[in-house]
Amino acid sequence: MARRLVSVKLMPMNNPTILICAGHDPSGGAGIQADIETVAGLGGHAATVVSVLTVQDTCNVAEAMPVDDSFFGRALDTICADMAPDAIKTGVLATKAQIDHVARVKRAHPETPLVVDPVLVAAGGGRLADDRVAQTLRQRLIPLADIITPNRVEAQRLTDSGADAEACATQLAELGCHVLVTNGDDDDASQETISVLATPVGNVGHYRYQRLAGGPYHGSGCTLASAIATQLGRGDDMSRAIERAEAYVHGCLQRATQPGQGQLVPQRVRAW
Ligand code: PLP
Repeated sequence: MARRLVSVKLMPMNNPTILICAGHDPSGGAGIQADIETVAGLGGHAATVVSVLTVQDTCNVAEAMPVDDSFFGRALDTICADMAPDAIKTGVLATKAQIDHVARVKRAHPETPLVVDPVLVAAGGGRLADDRVAQTLRQRLIPLADIITPNRVEAQRLTDSGADAEACATQLAELGCHVLVTNGDDDDASQETISVLATPVGNVGHYRYQRLAGGPYHGSGCTLASAIATQLGRGDDMSRAIERAEAYVHGCLQRATQPGQGQLVPQRVRAW
């Protein structure tokens, strides 16, 4: 008997398409590879537009070369003409023009959740974006975001202050988005990591996890932001998306491996 081919269209909720705009890290620990692994690990599909190429290992970034701005814009427009993302996540955006391209796409799809991970400097101290990027992110992209996920140092740079995580989160949330400030990368003797969440309506909450030995982990921030984007793309509300993403990241960190001689890399995909 002839077999009939049945075409099954998966509901986007089950298999959300996440548009990622981020940099490439050849070590595979952070950047676009971390994002792809996270989205795939959570059952989504990652569509990726690369913003910057880097020379780096698991210890630090030596060089960063932005992708040509108009090339970046064409890649973004071409993929958006082909597929409708269920969420958008940004990592490193290396130039003002790249930020404007993403802002333009978000304005064209106002209902699509936007997660901005405002990556400015690698954990090892290497620069990933030029000085004007923090200011442009604050003025042109953060007001369009549903959530931003800076670490404490990035939050201080975005507010141009030495304020604590809670004060930075509250100040940035006044721009109209949720703000989740992480402190997992801090050189901290405490037993816990505490992420501070400030909401656009002025509420503040905390997510606490046992601090794991062996940190900071290369690409943990990318993993968290991509996990939140995947869950928002799946239809979770913000607090559920953050809870699930935090729990997923904690599991990835518990399974981390050391493929190089520097930082540990979260294990985001379990294939065995
Ligand atoms: N994106 C790229 C391309 C990077 O190289 C890095 C860090 O080196 C990051 C993002 C940020 O990584 P993390 O998640 O550790 O903050």
